[in-house]
Amino acid sequence: MTFLERTTDARKLRHWEGNMEADYIYTSGVAGERFFVALRDQGKMLASRCAACGLDYLPARLFCEDCFAELTEFVDVPQEGRVAGLTVAHLDREGVRLSRPQVWAFVTFQGIRGGLVHRLLVPPGRARVGLAVRPKLKAREDRVGAITDIEGFEPVGS
Ligand SMILES: [Zn+2]
Repeated sequence: MTFLERTTDARKLRHWEGNMEADYIYTSGVAGERFFVALRDQGKMLASRCAACGLDYLPARLFCEDCFAELTEFVDVPQEGRVAGLTVAHLDREGVRLSRPQVWAFVTFQGIRGGLVHRLLVPPGRARVGLAVRPKLKAREDRVGAITDIEGFEPVGS
């Protein structure tokens, strides 16, 4: 059937056999790229700053959520953060049991709105809200400009 043929049987409209390509490429955006380049090249995290509101955002973004100003300024995220929430995963994304449970945390930083969800590099028994942590980065030559350049967050002083 082509688009030019008239359909007289509505049941034919409900079924179409074939394959549909569904490949997607997601970009990190302008602010995200800046964040990942700084992470890769300088080993630091950036937040975007709204000078009008005095707010710093992580993840970095292009517009202020409060005043909608375009954000062009970036500031360093403090080296030390705190665990604001956590969960312990016993299954992987496919539902297969992990050999060891993994701890995932939402880490926030003083003076920054938002935070990052990432692996917490402690055994489940040591994981707790309020734990002071810092990012553990891969070696410079192994960093590719992705969130996995951060291996996880480890307790400060470890
Ligand atoms: Zn603002």
